[in-house]
Amino acid sequence: MIRVEALTKVYGSGPSAVTVLDGVDFAVERGEVFAVVGASGAGKSTLAHCLNLLERPTSGSVTVNGVELSRLRERDLRAARRAIGTVFQSSSLLSRSTAAENVALPLDYLGVTPAERDARVAELLERVGLSHRADHHPFQLSGGQRQRVGIARALALRPSVLLADEATSGLDPESTRSVLSLLRELRDDLGLSIVLITHEMDAVRETADRVGHLQAGRLVESGPVAALLRDP
Ligand code: ADP
Ligand code: ADP
Repeated sequence: MIRVEALTKVYGSGPSAVTVLDGVDFAVERGEVFAVVGASGAGKSTLAHCLNLLERPTSGSVTVNGVELSRLRERDLRAARRAIGTVFQSSSLLSRSTAAENVALPLDYLGVTPAERDARVAELLERVGLSHRADHHPFQLSGGQRQRVGIARALALRPSVLLADEATSGLDPESTRSVLSLLRELRDDLGLSIVLITHEMDAVRETADRVGHLQAGRLVESGPVAALLRDP
C-alpha cells in the first residue's frame, strides 16, 4: 500500500515562492483504485512526480509498504522506486523498439538472464492481452494497445503500486475502456494499489473505488466515488 502524509511542494523561495502542493494526505490499500481528479493547474503532475520520486517533496512523506521513500538517500532510492510503476500519458514507448523490447527495458538494467527476461516479457504481454503483438512496433499498434504495452513495462519490476498519470488522456473511448478495464483487472488479480491521476471524470466513475479532488494543491474532498459523484 501507499500512504501520503502532509505532502507539500514549494517551488522557489522568499516572496516568489509558489506552493503547488499544500498538505496532501491519502492512503491507498492493496487492491484499491484511488483517483485524484483536478482541473489544469491544480497540481496533478507535481503530485505524480512526487509520488514516483522524479521530484523530492519539500516536506511530508510518501511511504510504500512501510518504507518511507522520501527519507531515503539517493543511493537507496533506485531500488525503492521499483515499488512504484508509472504509466504516463500517451505512452513514452521507444518507437524503434518492438513491444517486447519496450517491456524488457526495465529488466535489462537489472541483470536478469536473457532466458528469465524473455519469459517475464512473455508473461507480461500475455497479462495485458498483447502476446500476438510482441514483435510489432509502436506505430503498428492502436493508442490503447500502446498504453497496454506501457502498463506491461510499468509492471516489469513487480511494483506494488501502479501510478497512472493521465494514462487515458487523448485516447478514443474504446481504447480508454480497454485501458481502464485492464487497470481493474490488475487491481483484482494482483492486488495492486492504483493511483489514477486524471482530469477525466468518466475514467473515475468507471474505475475508482475512492476519489480525492485536488484544488489549488489541496486534496479537498475524499471519499467513495458514489458519494462524490452523486452531487455536481
Ligand atoms: P496540473 O498537472 O494539475 O495541471 P501542475 O502540477 O502541472 O498542475 O502545476 C500546478 C501549478 O504549479 C501550476 O500553477 C504551475 O504553474 C505550477 N508549477 C509547476 N511546476 C513549477 C515549477 N517548476 N516552478 C514554479 N511553478 C510550477
Ligand atoms: P504468485 O505470488 O504465486 O506468483 P500472484 O497471483 O501474486 O501469484 O501473481 C500471479 C502472476 O502475476 C505471477 O506470475 C507474478 O509473477 C505476476 N505478478 C504478481 N504481482 C505482480 C506485480 N506487482 N506486477 C507484475 N506482475 C506481478
